[in-house]
Amino acid sequence: ALFGAARRNSRGINMNISQSWNALEAELAPQLQRQWTAGPVIDGRRRDGRARPVICPWDTARNVGSVQFASAAQAREAIDALAAFRPTWNATPVDARAAILERLADLLERQRAELMALCTLEAGKTLQDGIDEVREAVDFCRYYAAQARQRLGRETLPGPTGERNELFHEGRGIFACVSPWNFPLAILLGQIAAALVSGNVVLAKPAEQTSLIAGRTLELMFEAGLPVQAIAMLPGDGAELGAVFCADPRVAGVCFTGSTDTARLINRALAGRDGPLATLIAETGGQNAMIVDSTALPEQVVKDAVASAFTSAGQRCSALRVLYVQDDIAERVIELLRGAMAELRVGPPDRRSSDVGPVIDAEACKALQAHVEHLRRDARMIAETPVPAGLRGHFIAPVAFEIPSIAALDKEHFGPVLHVVRYAAAELDRVVAAINDTGFGLTLGIHSRNEETARRIEALARVGNLYVNRNQIGAVVGVQPFGGCGLSGTGPKAGGPAYLMRFTQERTTTVNT
Ligand code: GLU
Repeated sequence: ALFGAARRNSRGINMNISQSWNALEAELAPQLQRQWTAGPVIDGRRRDGRARPVICPWDTARNVGSVQFASAAQAREAIDALAAFRPTWNATPVDARAAILERLADLLERQRAELMALCTLEAGKTLQDGIDEVREAVDFCRYYAAQARQRLGRETLPGPTGERNELFHEGRGIFACVSPWNFPLAILLGQIAAALVSGNVVLAKPAEQTSLIAGRTLELMFEAGLPVQAIAMLPGDGAELGAVFCADPRVAGVCFTGSTDTARLINRALAGRDGPLATLIAETGGQNAMIVDSTALPEQVVKDAVASAFTSAGQRCSALRVLYVQDDIAERVIELLRGAMAELRVGPPDRRSSDVGPVIDAEACKALQAHVEHLRRDARMIAETPVPAGLRGHFIAPVAFEIPSIAALDKEHFGPVLHVVRYAAAELDRVVAAINDTGFGLTLGIHSRNEETARRIEALARVGNLYVNRNQIGAVVGVQPFGGCGLSGTGPKAGGPAYLMRFTQERTTTVNT
């Protein structure tokens, strides 16, 4: 019962069925020509801010719209407004809060083409990634709504006669939801939906790069019936706005997805303030490996490694970074990897034929180029998928290099760069130890037909999500609850049964009857 009865995941759209594709394409075409605007919204009213153009990451000559960035003063104003509405929202029945999320899920499906266009134009996501993004957002809304209905009610506990004991959960207060650009709809909404349905009012701070998607999603939340006072959205500079909401004792918690470094800054700021101790829910980076032993099927390994490393241009915290291959089959796997990378298509993400789109911005592009330059000098290149000439965007050629160990990597490189390491059978435990030693613990892939090997790795590895004989990305809400340990985050897992509870505080009422 923990996972909810008869819950279904959104079905998405299969682009390979021509009828589905034709219908989607017709809806997408006008959306892909549009422009949007967004800005600070407090109490449902749009405020002015510092205007910035939004540039398309795969066509830098193209303007997708404009966003107004909020000020520190507006952040304080938003907190005042949210604090005033908090008791009302917290007293709103759970069923009513859940029903809003369920209506929102339906609206997201209705607006799929527009949301996909935004994901493509503002975040550079491929069409398939856009479909998956909307699906995941829909799933988060329905899953947390179902969880709330099931688990946030009052429970009567057994006790002595003459006494009634009740346990219930309520929102903690104001939750700041700080979301990333790589899942600008799904993670934005996953955080917000969980916080709201459990009775918190929300200060939403979307990633600087994807404020338009966030702004449009906010409009849909209001259309679904969310009271405008329950959420404030502040697009803007993370450091400037974060300094305000982390310091304010009325902010009960922060839910953050992004880099480990930023999570640390937030943690420090929360720890340094006066007032009540704050809750931090952080989902951060990874240095994810896949371990392939000599019993694995090379064709399957390569298919799954390529999907895990290069989908979304490698911009997933779950993405594969280091492929460990047992030396007996390394040559075969590397040869197949070269073939598979030659088949990958880099290109504008609004085309169905593109497998790999751009990275998010010029800064990301520069950092990845520096890493690749460094590898060109120090490592052996296995394969590189060319970027077609004539593109005006932040494209990085998917590339694979052979390196000696995961320990050779200084940090997480968030892009389409795969590192390959050979190991000997006798070194298996040391391989797992080296992976653990990175301190990250998000995803790990295993390819082996030897069940004992898989069990042994499972026992030794400290990771949140382990995938055996398949790819290691695209965790499905309610099916593969997602999130890591160590440097990868605090837990609880998104899309899992423990998630909502962290947004609540438990209360017990005892009545002498
Ligand atoms: N949940 C996503 C996946 O499994 C990754 C989330 C992230 O990159 O933050 O691929």
